[in-house]
Amino acid sequence: MVASRFAGIPPTIFAEMSGLAVRTGSLNLGQGFPDEDGPAAVLEAARQALLDGANQYAPGLGVPALRAAVAAHQHRHYGLDPDPDREVVITTGATEGVAAALLGLVEPGDEVVVLEPYYDSYLAMIQVAGGVRVPVTLRWPDFRLDVDALRAAVTPRTRLILLNSPHNPTGAVLDADELAAVAAVAIEHDLVVVTDEVYEHLVFDAPHVPLATLPGMAERTLTLSSLGKSYSLTGWKIGWATGPARLVEAVVAAKQWLTFTSGAPLQPAAAVALTDVAGFPRQLADSLRIRRDLLCDGLTALGLPTRRPEGTYFALSDVRHLGWDDGLAFCRALPERAGVVAIPAQVFHDDTEAGRHLVRWAFCKRTEVLEEALGRLAGADLAR
Ligand code: PMP
Ligand code: GLN
Repeated sequence: MVASRFAGIPPTIFAEMSGLAVRTGSLNLGQGFPDEDGPAAVLEAARQALLDGANQYAPGLGVPALRAAVAAHQHRHYGLDPDPDREVVITTGATEGVAAALLGLVEPGDEVVVLEPYYDSYLAMIQVAGGVRVPVTLRWPDFRLDVDALRAAVTPRTRLILLNSPHNPTGAVLDADELAAVAAVAIEHDLVVVTDEVYEHLVFDAPHVPLATLPGMAERTLTLSSLGKSYSLTGWKIGWATGPARLVEAVVAAKQWLTFTSGAPLQPAAAVALTDVAGFPRQLADSLRIRRDLLCDGLTALGLPTRRPEGTYFALSDVRHLGWDDGLAFCRALPERAGVVAIPAQVFHDDTEAGRHLVRWAFCKRTEVLEEALGRLAGADLAR
């Protein structure tokens, strides 16, 4: 029954694996959602907004207080100065930002250069937009950007580069040279870059550098972000797109017909988060660093070499040392064997071989949960 524009797009792995976690009572280190809610003051602001009557349609671009808060956030952290009336739009999570950007910018047949492994909604929405994805593979164990491969991926049909840093699922953060290379390619070929920076605050080494801050990039970069990751409020689905007016207009052209407007009472509360609780994301990142080390060291000690990510709340392990050559088979067996759920990375690849042996764990769970998961894994027979 489903229309052909969705043909060949597999159901999202997150539904399968979270369903498996519920059915088997497993600890869910698969889907990336925290098991503790964001700041109480922000929850209280949402409650207040509901009771104060912010319950009818918000303006299509988003409530002015939140657009102003997003603009102020861009200025405070990055020295960027988007005009809150023309260069900021509030989206229903970054997921809608991705969808609206691709629908608004890609013509049928246009090529979209994308890093793989890729977040699964990219695959779906490039196809729905009629685009052709052209992956550039980040390879285990370093996941550095192969600049020659990036250059080779660009053709006269390339419409845009869809970037993601900090990168899900690898946890890699593009370094200064890699960002400069992306910028050079984009400028040389006069390309737009849509950059998904939802994990902008969840970085463990150096502060985040938005692509839009590089010379010559502000005018060609559409940046996507979201409250969900930075404030542990993934269920709120409040995100935003910022960039030059011509790119934001393209997002709005699609967004107005997808949802028109996003969660009215949550928007003023999101403004409170960005304005009054601005220190929360840093504390979250500090606490995630400790949990990252706990999980990565623990998994490596169990015979699952795990890359310590520079950002996000995901880490990838190589399952081959335990005799598995297929991370999907490993992930399907793991709930029964150990009562733990992880995500196979191969589903985020065109080049399945590059990700076949990799599985992703989310460490945005309480320390006790991570310890319990490691204990279960230690007590289980994990060998193939
Ligand atoms: N992009 C990436 C890279 C993500 O990991 C996520 C989280 N699911 C999203 C976009 C979607 O964000 P949101 O939940 O705000 O729609
Ligand atoms: N971004 C989260 C992840 O990668 C959630 C994905 C989802 O539920 N669609 O796990």
